Amino acid sequence: MRPPESRATAKTRKKRRRDLHFLNSDGMVACNPRDREAAHRAQDEGIATEDQGAVTCKKCWEAIRRARNRQRSKKPSGNA
Ligand SMILES: [Zn+2]
Repeated sequence: MRPPESRATAKTRKKRRRDLHFLNSDGMVACNPRDREAAHRAQDEGIATEDQGAVTCKKCWEAIRRARNRQRSKKPSGNA
């Protein structure tokens, strides 16, 4: 005994959830800060946000964190 429509539902499940990317102060996506097109596309598709708490893109997260670290650890004498 098996339910008649189990196959069909498995296939329609494939809808992928899109990541939300972070728009930085330059209006660029944080994970692709040099690509203006990517920023436009992201805004167009509604997958860009300025709300850090809403960001789901891992790369954007890393970019945000890196930028934050850079700001905090501004050393007077630059010797990394
Ligand atoms: Zn991203």
